[in-house]
Amino acid sequence: MPSILIAEDEQRIASFLEKGLGAAGFGVTTATDGPAALNAALTGFYDLLLLDLGLPALDGLDVLKRLRDQGSSMPVIILTARDSAADTVAGFEGGANDYVSKPFRFDELLARIRARLTDADSRTGPISVLLPALRHGDLELDLRTRRISVAGVAVDLSAREFALAEEFLRSPEQVLSREQLLSRVWGFDFDPGSNVVDVYVRYLRRKIGPERLATVRGMGYRLTTPPPLVT
Ligand code: CA
Repeated sequence: MPSILIAEDEQRIASFLEKGLGAAGFGVTTATDGPAALNAALTGFYDLLLLDLGLPALDGLDVLKRLRDQGSSMPVIILTARDSAADTVAGFEGGANDYVSKPFRFDELLARIRARLTDADSRTGPISVLLPALRHGDLELDLRTRRISVAGVAVDLSAREFALAEEFLRSPEQVLSREQLLSRVWGFDFDPGSNVVDVYVRYLRRKIGPERLATVRGMGYRLTTPPPLVT
């Protein structure tokens, strides 16, 4: 299980990231200021650093610089509200591997994290990255190729449909509420009154078969295995 170090001083964002990344199968640790982030990163224990630029005591760019000065090549994704071109350039020049500006979509961040872990993995050998296929019944979701197949037949999904399918496949046969799906797939800046989950469940049903996503009235949705066909 890859371990991710989050350097973020804003409690709301940190806990959102912890929950989301934990649900996606990562080990997660949060440091809330620059020196703590640097010390934790230098342990070599973590596979990737999500680095906020505006950190107390030691700025994110300084954390990055010191980390690289110490010879660490751990993948670093900068996470920041500062999206000016100058900061982006400074981040990359400082040795960042990627850059995501706030507010970000969780599925996009997750895709970037997986991509950077895969890059690192191909450099250093298969030490920590496992991107298994998720299966339930005759559904199979391949996290590496980002494809889904239904009874062995590949089905095209949009990025958002894929992220939604992934959440269901991570918790098969469990009821997932609209709020859970919203926060995990759409990120922290969603409108809680939005019906976007219902809309995307409909899209997904069309592609994987309506009987696989059951509506649980008043609660949410559940991924099920369709009963065998009686002929
Ligand atoms: Ca901050």
